[in-house]
Amino acid sequence: MTMDSLPLKETALLWSESFLGHDTGHHVESPARAEAIGAMVQRLTQHARREDVSVRPVSTQLLQGTHDQRWLSRLDRFSADGGGWIDADTWCGPDSLETAAYSAGAAVEATMAVLDGRVARAFALGRPPGHHATRDRSMGFCLYNNVAVAANAALGAGLERVAIVDWDLHHGNGTQDIFYGRRDVLYCSVHQSGIYPGGGWPHELGSERGEGFTLNVPLKAGSGDAAMLRAIDEIFTPAIRSFEPELILISAGFDAHHADPLGDLNATEAGFAQMADRLCRLAEEYCDNRVVAVLEGGYDVRALARSTEAVIAVLDGAPPEPLTEPVFENDRRWWTG
Ligand SMILES: [Zn+2]
Repeated sequence: MTMDSLPLKETALLWSESFLGHDTGHHVESPARAEAIGAMVQRLTQHARREDVSVRPVSTQLLQGTHDQRWLSRLDRFSADGGGWIDADTWCGPDSLETAAYSAGAAVEATMAVLDGRVARAFALGRPPGHHATRDRSMGFCLYNNVAVAANAALGAGLERVAIVDWDLHHGNGTQDIFYGRRDVLYCSVHQSGIYPGGGWPHELGSERGEGFTLNVPLKAGSGDAAMLRAIDEIFTPAIRSFEPELILISAGFDAHHADPLGDLNATEAGFAQMADRLCRLAEEYCDNRVVAVLEGGYDVRALARSTEAVIAVLDGAPPEPLTEPVFENDRRWWTG
């Protein structure tokens, strides 16, 4: 079926004031990110008839289906005792787990809204991000693994195969860890090589029954949109086609943007939109258009809001803008070529 014969309902945008909690001080992963996204969502919602999907905190049961129970208890105690830095990157204060529960809850509610047919596509716009959180450890700004909880919720609701495509600047080591031995989730990550958290190499393909259901494409600094799209087209697309997912989840980080302070992958808004478009075409083919994007990183707030908006336009059914060279106005540009 084509988009002409069946107009899509506009993408549900799941944003909540709860995302403004979890104050990390001067850290790049700050409430300012949620503010920028919130302002953009408010603008997009004014002039469109979007399904209003409310954000609720994730249930304990769903968290326990993804994370180690002893780790969750330790995290609860740590936060209740006043909290602090879990590691050099990851803050967990007294209100952080509430914000994290809403962030994971948004991913779950977005997924449920798509599974029960209220909308074809949804974008969970929460923070903190999730893809570094492993089964038994919070790390890399991430407390709960939002996209993994959403994938498990979809499988719990009766799906048999869920694909996760992670285009964040960083390798989603947590998501890989959680599904490494499983074949009901295909995990595909394209990321900058040689930066945090290390790993995400092509030989990491899954273990035992999960062998072949993890795919990693590390790219060198400066690679840009074309290389990221090649990873989608040449590595992920054939795997997704043979996997035949019933739902595509996107770990949509925007720290690969050329303006982002954390990396040098040099992606543009149009590049993110083109990647989203590729995944929407696959979803048309295999899963009744069902795509759920879950926000991960993105630390230049203007680039974050603009890139998110470009992806939302594609999820709404608009054709993506053509690729152009990144414009390096105020960016750090240390590489040549
Ligand atoms: Zn990232």
